[in-house]
Amino acid sequence: MATIQPARITKVLPDSIAAEVGFEVGDAIVSINGVQPRDLIDYRFLCADEYLELEVLDASGQTHHVELEKDYDEDLGLEFASALFDSLIQCNNRCPFCFIDQQPPGKRESLYYKDDDYRLSFLYGSYLTLTNLPEREWQRIEQMRLSPLYVSVHATEPDVRIRLLKNPRAGKILEQIAWFQARRLQIHAQVVLCPGINDGKHLEQTIRDLASFQENDVPAVTSVAVVPVGLTRFRPPEDELVPVTPSKAKEVISQVRSLQQEFRQKYGTTFVWLADEWFLIAQEDLPDESEYEDYPQIDNGVGSIQLFIKQFMAISAQILPTKLTKQKRLTWVVGNAVEHAFQPLLTRLNQVEGLQVQMQALNSDYWGQSISVTGLLTGHDLLLKLRNCDLGEGILLPSVMLKHGESVFLDDVSVEEVSQKLNVPIYPVAGVEELIRQCIS
Ligand code: SF4
Repeated sequence: MATIQPARITKVLPDSIAAEVGFEVGDAIVSINGVQPRDLIDYRFLCADEYLELEVLDASGQTHHVELEKDYDEDLGLEFASALFDSLIQCNNRCPFCFIDQQPPGKRESLYYKDDDYRLSFLYGSYLTLTNLPEREWQRIEQMRLSPLYVSVHATEPDVRIRLLKNPRAGKILEQIAWFQARRLQIHAQVVLCPGINDGKHLEQTIRDLASFQENDVPAVTSVAVVPVGLTRFRPPEDELVPVTPSKAKEVISQVRSLQQEFRQKYGTTFVWLADEWFLIAQEDLPDESEYEDYPQIDNGVGSIQLFIKQFMAISAQILPTKLTKQKRLTWVVGNAVEHAFQPLLTRLNQVEGLQVQMQALNSDYWGQSISVTGLLTGHDLLLKLRNCDLGEGILLPSVMLKHGESVFLDDVSVEEVSQKLNVPIYPVAGVEELIRQCIS
């Protein structure tokens, strides 16, 4: 078992119970009602009580005992340095398409960590493979009802999945999903499609195997996303992977569409969705917004363009003025994959008198891609492509380009460095409302 460290506090929310009690940044929680939490899941579980006895270590290393009473479901108002107070459960696979291995060498160590941790899956929706879980962790998933989890299935046929994950322990996925089914726990599944390996009849088999769980009243598999393999110029040589071509994309779209139709009739849900990238590669229209149901795979790029457009139209109707009191010129940077789809949004912004927004739709030279989604653009790409451009009074930068919670691009270049070198302010915008508000502020 990994050693559990005290949970280091990085933020005390104002007006919270923790603020009232006098918690400070740098304090660390050792135990709650005598139990050491090993992660945020334990912490939340232990805090769901009316009476708490906390053992706390302050920044100088002194121990304090704090007793407090609260409502059962009241949050203490603390944030921590990490969601895991023990160590990360590491990946034991060697997928040839692993994005971590497709990065350039020589970056900071943390960029090469491969996690495959069910706790991050439960807390944040990251995908895991279930190839590395000892019995006690399965028991914990069952006891704490950690559901839904997000599982990288890729293929249900044992030999195909073993080949994709390069792990002899990868062939038991259907038994594992049956384990979830027997306990009425649920997963969302993803298939990273690698042409020539898990496409064609293997894709059909995988989707049908996963759909068979829909026969149950609480289906273990609630949705499936099919995502095209992403390749970069840093990938290892002779990795047996080939990129998705427009004709392969058309083939997959047609194959999945006919399954979707069948599932809608049989199960009342589309069940399997294609990532937006398929339609961009095939140069086909995106599905109608209504096809995405409640967007169960939005973080996998399934329906994200249509949802963004829908939200933009709704929010712009509410808050976009007819004119600005002071003229403003801005540059909106996006991946060239969405250039066409976002033209109506650009037109709408430029209808505001006094507002001039130009779009810079870039591909990623850094990753060696000719078509790029916005989230993969790097600081290097901005510096390379925008150096001699008139960028107006600032850059609107979708924050999907930045690492979670940091002002740093995927290539470790900081927003500040790009801003200084381009000599223009950069405004990171998370979502539609921030984008529009930044335009009119
Ligand atoms: S499971 Fe994920 S992290 Fe591990 S090798 Fe495969 S793609 Fe990489």
